[in-house]
Amino acid sequence: MSSGAATYDLGNLHGGLRLDDEKAASTAIAVQVLPIPQQLILPIQQHVGEPAHPIVGIGEHVLKGQLIAQADGSLSAPVHASSSGKVLAIEPWPVSRRRGDSAPCIVIECDGEDQSIVPVDAPAPFNTLTPDALRQQILAGGIVGLGGAVFPTGQKLMQAATMPLEYLILNGVECEPYISCDDLLMREQAAEVLGGAQILMHALNVTSCFVVIESDKPEAIAAIGEAMATLDDARITLKQIPTIYPSGGEDQLVQLVTNREVPSGGLPTDVGCVVQNVGTAAAIYRWICEGEPLISRITTVSGPGVATPMNVVARIGTTVGDIIASAGGYTDQAEQLIIGGPMCGKSVTTDDVPLVKATNCILVLNQTRPIGAEQPCIRCGECATVCPIQLLPQQLFWHASADNENKLRAHGLTDCIECGCCDLVCPSHIPLTASFRNAKARIQELADEKARAERARIRFESRNERIENEKRQREAELAEQKQSALSAGPAAITDILERQKRKHDDQDGDE
Ligand code: SF4
Ligand code: SF4
Repeated sequence: MSSGAATYDLGNLHGGLRLDDEKAASTAIAVQVLPIPQQLILPIQQHVGEPAHPIVGIGEHVLKGQLIAQADGSLSAPVHASSSGKVLAIEPWPVSRRRGDSAPCIVIECDGEDQSIVPVDAPAPFNTLTPDALRQQILAGGIVGLGGAVFPTGQKLMQAATMPLEYLILNGVECEPYISCDDLLMREQAAEVLGGAQILMHALNVTSCFVVIESDKPEAIAAIGEAMATLDDARITLKQIPTIYPSGGEDQLVQLVTNREVPSGGLPTDVGCVVQNVGTAAAIYRWICEGEPLISRITTVSGPGVATPMNVVARIGTTVGDIIASAGGYTDQAEQLIIGGPMCGKSVTTDDVPLVKATNCILVLNQTRPIGAEQPCIRCGECATVCPIQLLPQQLFWHASADNENKLRAHGLTDCIECGCCDLVCPSHIPLTASFRNAKARIQELADEKARAERARIRFESRNERIENEKRQREAELAEQKQSALSAGPAAITDILERQKRKHDDQDGDE
């Protein structure tokens, strides 16, 4: 077996920041499993791509693990019931997401029985499936990237499998302050993480996997090391990296581990790598080996506004309010509720929002951001110094303010990983990251609109073409029949014309 435990320097990785980690409070106790809530709120879109399509009706009784919304379109992921109960409604509900503050959700009143849907067959050993069948199976489990990207994992693997691949990289790097769910997952479920790595290697046909952890996580490193010794799989290697924010970004990780640079606008697969979060690997293990789709996750509940910071296993669909109550409730310092971490998270105004597949942290802070009033840019260049992608944030900001899509693209807006480093160092307190996020959303909305218009145009043109073809066909038939009637005489002509009239009347009626 390989027990590689080298600490890597940051090589030529650009920028980044060393931040106070603020993780001690939430890592002091083991992960707590939360009780089943009274109600589950399950958004039909918890992933990148098209929303899933509900397949249950109001009043219907559902079981834990039952498919309640199926993937719809070429990029989508299904949603499963997180516990048993009755479907109360399918309606818009407050959610935490980039575009819009509410979204259609399936609301389930739990019956407290937590009765599972019984699998017809025990899951087949994963290595008896072909890689392609395994990828399809992963898609059916509703598995999405749990590091925050929420790209449907089955589809990511399918796309990756079309490329020449060398390495699977399991991302256990959790460099954003407060967030510690992956650390606790690796400490407590190391065998599941490595089991997921083996499944992913089979699905991708690769024979080399790195599990990457920051060197300031000794408990996780020890747990993964022990699980590796038990598993004795020489294909898996543990790598430690120093803690610097945002080294957990996919492209940064690829560079740190392989010294390969992901090209601008490209993907890790362009340089032979696939990156998966450790939580995604454990979720794949539970689905493929134990038959449980993605219906729960570990999330960190922390910040000075929470009475007992901790990590919890909660059912997808549990409200944030219920989760905070399980962590002792709010303190009198609670001022701002953020879903996600302090750098990349999103502020919400209600704790009615549900925990979704992407929710790695629920943070309650005692001060609102940003600190200080916004001032004009003084061209100090600090933002460019810390940008891990080597962008020029001040220029991007000007182009975002002018809504200049071409300039934004030319200056690499799509490469921005929204890490927030530029905000943190800006002496003028300019909300740079928020402006990039909004600009990306605007560009995406325009692209979606264009795609919708294009689909409508294609539908319209094909309908017109079909009608034209039918008309041409009818005229040809008519001409042919006229020709044969001319040769058959007047009685036959009258008969044929009457038959044609009846037929055309019928066809017009159908249209
Ligand atoms: S938010 Fe974007 S522009 Fe700002 S530092 Fe991060 S990657 Fe660079
Ligand atoms: S850090 Fe702020 S003030 Fe300095 S160049 Fe960047 S945007 Fe301007």
